[in-house]
Amino acid sequence: DLNRQLNDLAVHDHLTGQFNRRYFEDALESEFKRMQRSGGTLSIAIMDVDFFKSYNDHYGHMAGDRCLADVAAAASAALLRPGDYLCRYGGEEFVAILADTDEGGARLTSERMRKEIANLRLPHELSPFQHVSVSVGVASVDGRNAASIAGLREELVGAADRALYAAKAQGRNRVVAASETQNPDRTAKQPTLKLI
Ligand code: GH3
Ligand code: MG
Ligand code: MG
Repeated sequence: DLNRQLNDLAVHDHLTGQFNRRYFEDALESEFKRMQRSGGTLSIAIMDVDFFKSYNDHYGHMAGDRCLADVAAAASAALLRPGDYLCRYGGEEFVAILADTDEGGARLTSERMRKEIANLRLPHELSPFQHVSVSVGVASVDGRNAASIAGLREELVGAADRALYAAKAQGRNRVVAASETQNPDRTAKQPTLKLI
């Protein structure tokens, strides 16, 4: 029982009860290996709370913490499959691992997370939406075309981050997939993975 409790602490985020970043890194690797064996597609969705600095400034850090717990619970309610993992990536950022899910499926799931959170209608006076919202960036990798685990994390997370950045730039409170964005430094080096 004590071992189980210690293990829970090691993989869970205290504030939100979701998985922590360390768990994300381990689960991403094992799910990716599973996708290589089965030839399936793995997606991730990086989610960031919009205008959260002004939320904290306006409502206080404790209200900010409660807000993060509510956001995480709503996002988690939108994840329906056993291969879906919601992790707190850091601060007001979360990342979902979506096993056996292609980009289209990841978009749908992310849109469901975004809506669940918007529908909480948590008041945010300083947001143009007047309520708490999130932006989400989605990226996918095909296990059949991906030769090596090396660089996966950087490439997949990098692609999802660029998509998130685009979602912010397009006005926030929305989902953008990596395939809809341009890779700015395509000349720099050849990707080792085929991102879709
Ligand atoms: P954007 O819409 O571009 O995401 O703007 P933003 O204000 O959300 O982005 P920024 O990165 O400037 O602010 C993130 C803020 O999140 C900074 C910090 O005040 C707050 N924050 C990060 N972690 C925590 C936390 O654990 N608890 C609370 N209450 N606030 C946190
Ligand atoms: Mg952030
Ligand atoms: Mg933010």
